[in-house]
Amino acid sequence: MTLGNLAKIEFLALPENVGFCRVAAAAFASQLDFTLDELEEIKVGVSEAITNAIIHGYQNRPTGIVRLHLGLSDKRLEIRVEDDGVGIVNVEMAMQAAYSTCEDRVGLGFSFMQSFMDELEVDTAVNQGTRITMKKSPKNSSGAASREN
Ligand code: ATP
Ligand code: MG
Repeated sequence: MTLGNLAKIEFLALPENVGFCRVAAAAFASQLDFTLDELEEIKVGVSEAITNAIIHGYQNRPTGIVRLHLGLSDKRLEIRVEDDGVGIVNVEMAMQAAYSTCEDRVGLGFSFMQSFMDELEVDTAVNQGTRITMKKSPKNSSGAASREN
């Protein structure tokens, strides 16, 4: 992808940072012609991926570092969320709706990411970490960025 803009945020694996990153991602994404509903979808995708990094990847160890990369071309937003945590043993199983390794959770985070974003990719290695890549384009856009308007 030809990058038109790029931003990177590194932060401690604290739940307080989920809200901060939601807002940052939506503000960055609004350089493209996303509707308010689409920006809400982007916020949900980012929240789910970052919450997973914190609670599963780092098992709530607050010294873990999470990286959020935001990139955009004139047509598409790309979001990457990376942790250096425990990794996922069986990705296929983890991505199934209603599957969770925590009995107090619903297991719908990946389903939300999948339905709210155009593309979802999971790269993971046990005891090394997990990288989630999500891509989304504005549905009603001609492809031109709105930042000059
Ligand atoms: P919910 O998101 O509904 O609160 P959940 O987090 O368990 O529940 P998903 O987000 O769909 O559901 O994730 C499914 C499973 O994948 C998790 O239970 C966990 O075992 C694993 N997982 C997801 N992200 C990570 C990660 N970054 N590191 C390690 N394991 C992960
Ligand atoms: Mg989750």
